[in-house]
Amino acid sequence: MSFSSLGLSAPLLKAVEEQGYTTPSPIQAKAIPAVIEGQDVMAAAQTGTGKTAGFTLPILERLLAGDRVKPNQVRALILTPTRELAAQVHKNVEQYSQNTRLTSTVVFGGVKINPQMMRLRQGVDVLVSTPGRLLDLYNQNAVRFSQLEVLVLDEADRMLDMGFIRDIRKILSFLPAKRQNLLFSATFSDEIRQLAKGLVNNPVEISVNPANQTATTVEQCIYPADQKKKAPMLLKLIQDNDWQQVLVFSKTKHGANRLSRFLDEKGVTSAAIHGNKSQGARTKALENFKTGEVRVLVATDIAARGIDIAQLPQVVNFDLPHVSEDYVHRIGRTGRAGATGKAISLVCVDEAHDLFSIERLIKQVLPRMELEGFPVVNKLPESRLDTRPIKPKKPKKPKKTFQHNDGQRSGENARGHKPVSKNRRHAGNAKPATASTDGAAKPQANARPKPAANRKPAGASPQRNPKNNGSNFKAN
Ligand code: AMP
Repeated sequence: MSFSSLGLSAPLLKAVEEQGYTTPSPIQAKAIPAVIEGQDVMAAAQTGTGKTAGFTLPILERLLAGDRVKPNQVRALILTPTRELAAQVHKNVEQYSQNTRLTSTVVFGGVKINPQMMRLRQGVDVLVSTPGRLLDLYNQNAVRFSQLEVLVLDEADRMLDMGFIRDIRKILSFLPAKRQNLLFSATFSDEIRQLAKGLVNNPVEISVNPANQTATTVEQCIYPADQKKKAPMLLKLIQDNDWQQVLVFSKTKHGANRLSRFLDEKGVTSAAIHGNKSQGARTKALENFKTGEVRVLVATDIAARGIDIAQLPQVVNFDLPHVSEDYVHRIGRTGRAGATGKAISLVCVDEAHDLFSIERLIKQVLPRMELEGFPVVNKLPESRLDTRPIKPKKPKKPKKTFQHNDGQRSGENARGHKPVSKNRRHAGNAKPATASTDGAAKPQANARPKPAANRKPAGASPQRNPKNNGSNFKAN
């Protein structure tokens, strides 16, 4: 199958070609014609499937046909949970629309609102936004929706996890009732289905997993450690193995800062990203990490979500996450697209409980390693695999959303805690080292959530080579 058979016009086909894409991914093959036809779409697709082009290209196609946008109006609105994802999606919108007259912009918190208001004055065909900043802009009369034709909720499950449900409902109440709705989510929990009920009409349902997951292997192990020795242990691991690009997860923002400073002092270039950092600082850190200027990126879970980093060889859990599913998301950032990745966790005695929960979730005891020169004083108890099935937790109301100011938007509140809706999915037979691809199949209305291992973390993609020849994706 080729892109030209999907109903896209010449300027969009040219942009696709310029990106180096030759074959549509499964989700693109299904979503593009459906969206061009004007149908609502509900898609179970994670980052890495090509979903962004899957909704952006046909939206642009539709917008090419309609009236020009009026001042302060928006014709297509794409909502994303994080600033990073908003920026990435917008980058794609810019790339795909470069040969057209269509305009676009991105708005999110953490940066000045005035330039965004100025930009919106002329109106934009496509607006990519995080929910909080959009509400702020709407409340200040900077944006109007009477010309709105299409709404996209991207990574809807993350939006709910991050407590954005009220913001989303509020935004929906401002939009014209007659519009096209596209809902993208990695999983379809009860909460998402509830949201979808009031959102999409008679949708085309699409479900895909990222290609190449079957070939993906992640070598996992833990290093039992004394808490105070973790930083020098990490340094030794980086130096001994000559790791050039490491994503390190830290539980807290302060911990991330401290560790980053320590590594820098020892001559290993490092940067920290978390919700207390300005948007500029986060973007710069990420860029420097991508280009290799910075060897180690220390991130909190929320800050790392939605980050588009090409396949990472090495992920380190400096602290284990309290939520076991986050472990699966974290290690899913390595070993993509058939390559082997390594995920190492430094685990102290206080984290024994978190470790056992993770091992229960992934149904395997993680191999333990020792690092020369770091004998462990506070011994970590032996693991004994708990094979009892994990019961799904009862759904609970999402926590109150955060204030709509600029500072703390992006999923972490002022104290650095992330709001997690309590009905986080539990993986059944999660097996993070390998996960299967099922091509395209319909999500069933009352299907159980997919195992966490089959979900890819937001922002993770198999390969981010713009001159990709399409081999990331199974031809449909
Ligand atoms: P996404 O799932 O939208 O985050 O896309 C994942 C990555 O795949 C991005 O880096 C895209 O540039 C790339 N991509 C999207 N569509 C295609 C395609 N048809 N062929 C090759 N690469 C693609």
